[in-house]
Amino acid sequence: MLQTEQWIKKLPLLQQIVDKKEVLWVNPLNGNSANGIEQSGISIKDVKDASDRLQRFAPYIQAIFPETTEAKGIIESPLTEIADMKQALARAYNTEVPGTLLLKQDNALPISGSIKARGGIYEVLKHAETLAIEYGLITPEDDYTKFAEPAFRNVFAKHKIAVGSTGNLGLSIGIMSAQLGFNVTVHMSADAKQWKKDLLREKGVTVVEYADDYSKAVEEGRRQAESDSLCHFVDDENSLDLFLGYAVAGERVAAQLKEQGRVVDADHPLFVYLPCGVGGGPGGVAFGLKVQFGDNVHCFFAEPTNAPCMTIGMMTQLHDKVSVADFGLDNHTAADGLAVGTPSGFVGKKMEPLLAGCYTISDDTMFKLLTMTADTEGIRLEPSALAGMTGPIHTIQNDIQNAASSSATHLVWATGGSMVPETEMDIYYGIGRK
Ligand SMILES: *Cc1c(COP(=O)(O)O)cnc(C)c1O
Repeated sequence: MLQTEQWIKKLPLLQQIVDKKEVLWVNPLNGNSANGIEQSGISIKDVKDASDRLQRFAPYIQAIFPETTEAKGIIESPLTEIADMKQALARAYNTEVPGTLLLKQDNALPISGSIKARGGIYEVLKHAETLAIEYGLITPEDDYTKFAEPAFRNVFAKHKIAVGSTGNLGLSIGIMSAQLGFNVTVHMSADAKQWKKDLLREKGVTVVEYADDYSKAVEEGRRQAESDSLCHFVDDENSLDLFLGYAVAGERVAAQLKEQGRVVDADHPLFVYLPCGVGGGPGGVAFGLKVQFGDNVHCFFAEPTNAPCMTIGMMTQLHDKVSVADFGLDNHTAADGLAVGTPSGFVGKKMEPLLAGCYTISDDTMFKLLTMTADTEGIRLEPSALAGMTGPIHTIQNDIQNAASSSATHLVWATGGSMVPETEMDIYYGIGRK
C-alpha cells in the first residue's frame, strides 16, 4: 500500500479531504448500468425475491404493527416535494435549482424510524422464515400471520440474533427480533445514544456497550456469535440479505414517482443523494434504483467530512483495506450511523461501476440544513438525514449530467429522525439556529 503522501500526489482531491473540506468526487469507473449490475453478481431476480418475501410477511407486519395498517403491512415512507426548502437552499448557496426537489422520508418509516427499517427488518424476517420452514412450521404459501403464534415464538426463543451497531441498525434488528421471540443481543459502540439503549432494553433486547467505536462493536459481536451455532449474526459489513432488503426501495420509489406523474428518462434524469455510513443502506438502495432506471439515475453517497470512509475507499479502490484514520481523520461526527471509519468492501466493489460519485459535508452544514428543513417544511430530521441535502448544489455547480436542467429531479434520501426524542431534537434545532 502506498503511503498517505503518495496517495495525495496521485489523487490531489485527497488533500482537501484531509483538510476536512466539503468536496465532490466524481467516480471515473461509473459506466453502463446493465454491465455494472451484471458484474455485481446480484441479479434482478434476487431483488424481486426479497420484494416477494416482504409481501408474504405483510399480513403479519400489519397484524403486529398497527402503524402499518394503511399500507397493508408494507413498510414504506412518503416521497414528498419540498419546494420551500428548494427556495431556501438556492438562496443559501446562491445557486439556482431549476429542477424538482423531492425528499424520501425514511425518517417516517414505520417501526424504527430510519432507513434501517428496510434492510434490518428484512434480514430478520428472512432468517425467521428460513427457520420456520426448517422446523416444518410454515410453507411460503401459508398465511404468515401464523408467525405470531406461540409455536413460532417457542422455536425462535431457542435461537439468537446478534448485531453490532452505532444505534439505528440495532433498533431495527432489536425491535423486530424481540417481537418474533428471538433471544437478541445488540453490541453498541460508545457513540450510541442513551435513548436507543433504553428503548431496546425496554423491548427485552440485551444491549452490550463498548467503549470503542463501531468497528469494535461489530468485531466483538461477530466473534461471540461465531462460537454459537444457534446464533445468527447480522453482518452490517458483508450481508447480502441486508443489501437486498434495502434494494427493494428501488421498485417502491419507481411506483411512487409514477403515481405522482414524474417521468424518469434520458431527458428527465433522476439524481439521488444518499447518506453513507458503512455503505449497505445507500448501496442497496442505489442498486435497486439502478435496476429500475439504469443510466437515467445518478446516485451519489454523502459522508461527513470527518468520516468519509466510502469516498476514500472508492477513490483509492482500497475499500475495506483503508480507514479514515490513515488520512488523519478522527471519525467524530454528530451524524448517527455515519461515524464509520472503514467502509464495507462488499458494497464498495459492487458500487464501482454503478455510483456517480461521493461528496462530503461538515456537521455544521448538516445542523444548519436540519433547522432550515424544519423551518421551511416542518419536517424534523436527524443530522445524518441532512447529508443528502447539499447534493443538488454539488451536481448543479459542477454541471453533472444535466443536473441544472429544469427537467431534472433531485431526490434527497432523508434516512432517519422520527424516533429521536423531542428534547434531543430541540437541541439539534437550536444548534442549527446558531
Ligand atoms: C445507518 C444509517 C445511514 C447509512 O447506512 P449505512 O448502511 O451504514 O451506510 C444513514 N443514515 C442513518 C440515519 C442511518 O442510521
